[in-house]
Amino acid sequence: MEMKQAQAALKKFFGYDSFRPMQADIIQSVLYGKDTVVLMPTGGGKSICYQIPAIVMPGLAIVVSPLIALMKDQVEGLNANGIPAAYLNSTQSLQEQMRVEQMARNGTLKLLYVSPEKLLSSQFMGFVRMLQVNLFAVDEAHCISAWGHDFRPEYTQLATLKDNFPQTPIIALTATADKITRRDIVHQLSLREPAQFVSSFDRPNLSLTVAPGQKKFQQILRFIGQRPRQSGIIYCLSRKNTENLAKKLQEAGYRAAYYHAGMSPDEREIVQENFIKDTAPIICATIAFGMGIDKSNVRWVIHYNLPKNIESYYQEIGRGGRDGLPSDTLLFYSYADVMTLRDIVDESAQKDLQLAKLNRMQQYAEAKTCRRKILLSYFGESLGKNCGNCDVCHNPPEYFDGTQIAQMALSAVARLANPQHSGLSKPVQIATGMLIDILRGSSRVDLIQKGYNNIRTYGAGRDISYLDWQLYLQQMLNLGLIEIAYDQGNIVRLTDESMRVLFEGQPVEFTKLTDLKEQFQKKTEK
Ligand code: ADP
Ligand code: ZN
Repeated sequence: MEMKQAQAALKKFFGYDSFRPMQADIIQSVLYGKDTVVLMPTGGGKSICYQIPAIVMPGLAIVVSPLIALMKDQVEGLNANGIPAAYLNSTQSLQEQMRVEQMARNGTLKLLYVSPEKLLSSQFMGFVRMLQVNLFAVDEAHCISAWGHDFRPEYTQLATLKDNFPQTPIIALTATADKITRRDIVHQLSLREPAQFVSSFDRPNLSLTVAPGQKKFQQILRFIGQRPRQSGIIYCLSRKNTENLAKKLQEAGYRAAYYHAGMSPDEREIVQENFIKDTAPIICATIAFGMGIDKSNVRWVIHYNLPKNIESYYQEIGRGGRDGLPSDTLLFYSYADVMTLRDIVDESAQKDLQLAKLNRMQQYAEAKTCRRKILLSYFGESLGKNCGNCDVCHNPPEYFDGTQIAQMALSAVARLANPQHSGLSKPVQIATGMLIDILRGSSRVDLIQKGYNNIRTYGAGRDISYLDWQLYLQQMLNLGLIEIAYDQGNIVRLTDESMRVLFEGQPVEFTKLTDLKEQFQKKTEK
């Protein structure tokens, strides 16, 4: 019955006739009072998943959101639709804050947006206790995880929400979280057997191409020359680059502009508007550009430099082709970018994790495996076949049946995890280096001491060199056949896909190593 109300509210307040797939299930879960995790791409329609329950349930929902600007937009949007909503944050005067608190107490609000630090101040917690809170919504929930790419220390305090309000359901929403981050969100928020909804991340209308980062400007001219009058974004690492590139494009006759966080808010606003109205359809921008910009006909996205992780990359190319029409993406890859990014990461908090993520990004760029397969498996999805819409698919390397090789490696990991099969006293998890040594029958001291030489797969892969094993394991990672837990000493973990290969005879296709090695050698020479 509540779903009927939900449906009616969707029509009444938002003017939509039906929920998108998954929205209905999510709302149902929240209305049942279950903790819920939602992973849905930007533009997928996450907001409604907590706004509708907030409206139909008695009381109000508290929405934790990290970005003050977005908070304001959301609230204005809701008010315009006739939904009583307000926000509280540090930019408001005391008077304004008191007015909002008054409305919350009177029961006239359905949604109250707050920043995490506001929510967790002890004074505010006391205030929240006096309200009838029907739901906590944690937006951009990946910010709670140190493994996530946008970690915000103030988010970790949200762990106390469940202790303070054990009866109130929590919905955590994000557009970007790999499997490890997802587990971390559940753990950090102490969610109780949450219902998890992961909508497909596949964007089949986006073509994926990686090109060597040489003569980039010439490549760009050719690329946009083939796409007259189309709108696109060129992401650059530095502000200076955005300015230079825009200038060069203008000189070449294109209506290009630049955008970065060093500009005044007014300047940025103008550039955004000109982009949306297509008067300056090409934007050279840093990653500051794009959040909250709703332009559906962006036909291409170029990465002038390597992004620092796959989440950022996927989010940025995701700004292309929102209307579902074919759109192209081009990533320039150069080893020099990897070095620059390493220096940046070296200074950051969470250095090891960031390096591991950069490493995955680099592997993506260097891989000769269907790029969409790699991206989707990174987010925990599997694509049955090669996509046919990436440069690797268009220009395929030589593939061969790698089922046996993959099974060998997987079986070693599986055996070690199971004392019955390893003869060891307890389940063992190992990193890739040890795995290769076991497969190759190495007599390294710690391996023998631990008794890993007693498992059946010991030495089964001795005909394959150490380097080749590394490249195979990398392919297995790219294909989602293994996971590497960077947060736990790089141990190798099995996935659902591994089980299918081990026990259901699912075949594995590997790229022959000749091409890959050429690249590897080039890199080590540098
Ligand atoms: P997200 O937060 O996942 O990025 P939003 O909640 O902002 O996405 O929704 C993206 C767009 O889709 C908004 O314009 C929203 O009004 C629209 N939308 C959401 N749900 C529906 C629906 N059921 N039917 C039609 N449009 C919808
Ligand atoms: Zn492909």
